[in-house]
Amino acid sequence: MMSALLHRAIESGVKIYNGFAIKHLEDTSQGVEIETEFGWTIRVPNILVAVNGFARRLLSMAEVQPARNQVLITQPIPNLQIEGCFHYDRGYFYFRNIDGRILLGGGRNLDLEREKTDEFGANELIRKALVNLLETVVCPNQQVQIDSWWTGILGLGPIKKPIVEKISPNVTVAVRLSGMGVAIGTLVGQEGAALVME
Ligand SMILES: Cc1cc2nc3c(=O)[nH]c(=O)nc-3n(C[C@H](O)[C@H](O)[C@H](O)COP(=O)(O)OP(=O)(O)OC[C@H]3O[C@@H](n4cnc5c(N)ncnc54)[C@H](O)[C@@H]3O)c2cc1C
Repeated sequence: MMSALLHRAIESGVKIYNGFAIKHLEDTSQGVEIETEFGWTIRVPNILVAVNGFARRLLSMAEVQPARNQVLITQPIPNLQIEGCFHYDRGYFYFRNIDGRILLGGGRNLDLEREKTDEFGANELIRKALVNLLETVVCPNQQVQIDSWWTGILGLGPIKKPIVEKISPNVTVAVRLSGMGVAIGTLVGQEGAALVME
């Protein structure tokens, strides 16, 4: 999805700038002032903000709750029999095969308060539970090596529904993808873009 989006954007002449965080946004009578972490400011006529779980930090949107997820991927496992996507414990844990490896993540429910964060980082309690699940349920009686770990940040809320709206005349948001952004991200992006163009 991301690769198709980038391809289309570049083909249409869109310029893409990565590598700096926005510290503050202000909708003024001359447009939106975007202050970067490096201290310089850009002014644009209007803006679509799509920071999902980081909306609370950037826009003080209390209705978006960041939620961190721990994820691991194993080294390739010889003769891996598991095929498909699986969910466990009300969907808090999930695993699937990918290129002969197991991708396993979740377990946020084991330490809910500490995982209500938009800071990337390990949670050892949850990582231990994931390793235990891997060794005892997903791949029992098998030597399995973990290749790497990472964390991702979800944007959740009291209802499982994205927020796509103007929060001021020139600032539109498309956030709180509710853990469904791979499935619905393109639609939410289209709806957000349509609002900006109105
Ligand atoms: C472990 C995990 C598993 C998931 N599994 C699924 C799944 O199976 N199916 C599904 O549909 N969805 C799944 N999701 C959810 C999906 O990944 C998200 O909904 C989707 O990535 C949201 O896309 P987004 O572009 O809105 O936000 P993000 O992908 O979170 O991107 C937001 C971007 O904004 C940037 N940003 C934030 N603040 C600032 C700032 N101040 N300045 C500049 N940049 C900023 C961030 O660096 C980030 O690059 C999963 C998420 C996780 C974490």
